[in-house]
Amino acid sequence: MSTIAFAGAGLDRADHIRSDPAALEGLMDWRARLLRLDGLDPVIDPEGRLSWGTLGDAGADSELVFLGMGEGKACFAEVPPALNGSVAPANPRLWAAMSALDSAELATYGGARALVDWHARHRFCARCGAPTKLAKGGWQRNCTGEACDAQHFPRVDPVTIMLVEHEGNVLLGRQPRFPPRRFSALAGFVEPGETIEEAVAREIHEEAGVRVRDVIYVASQPWPFPSSLMIACHSHTDDPAITIDTTELDEADWFTRAEVVQAMAGDETARFIAPPPFAVAHHLLKWWLENG
Ligand SMILES: [Zn+2]
Repeated sequence: MSTIAFAGAGLDRADHIRSDPAALEGLMDWRARLLRLDGLDPVIDPEGRLSWGTLGDAGADSELVFLGMGEGKACFAEVPPALNGSVAPANPRLWAAMSALDSAELATYGGARALVDWHARHRFCARCGAPTKLAKGGWQRNCTGEACDAQHFPRVDPVTIMLVEHEGNVLLGRQPRFPPRRFSALAGFVEPGETIEEAVAREIHEEAGVRVRDVIYVASQPWPFPSSLMIACHSHTDDPAITIDTTELDEADWFTRAEVVQAMAGDETARFIAPPPFAVAHHLLKWWLENG
């Protein structure tokens, strides 16, 4: 599997430091590094790398999250009080900035973004409504309400994304928000009370009316918009008849191996435009060409 975007951060998460307030305090000096963010977007230095400052650059009312240890230095990110949290990453500048980063820095940024965003969206207790405060170096928030000692943890939302194979062809679909001619693997959130395999089968049946068997796991990807974990899977079907759910998809169809090869090569005459290398669907299709 080639490098998956947002995976492989170079920082040591150093959990033993998170849970030791004295040790954490001891690292918060002039040597510590503060990741520069513009809202939730990365700030890129002239060398095309993430830009870091010192803790002195943080606002007085900001909360600081401990990202981990990098090159012997404690690395932090800032949650300013006015940050409201993300809605959607429909920001061409963000994608251009992320394209400039190497894979380890992109992963560091992605993790920091997801964590900072979570803090910004969880300033109040979901149980009692009282303010929450940062704990464990930013990997927890505790309720400050009287008689409520709720603890809240950064969330990760599992999303399945999957190929279905039938007689050497794969099922791909088009969501209404996709750019023209883009097709990709179908995807959907895992729901409470189901396994990954059950979520794959349910989503494909809901969206395309296809019953699948033999679901296998292929790869995963942290996707910080805002906090997904993409779980890429493969499956088979014995009945290729498609009935699409038009609230989810504009179109779904079967594609031959040759059509996928052509699209993945970026050929303009290909039947469809493949998902970009940032997306785990790209790696899933590549895996299928090599292993399917
Ligand atoms: Zn509470």
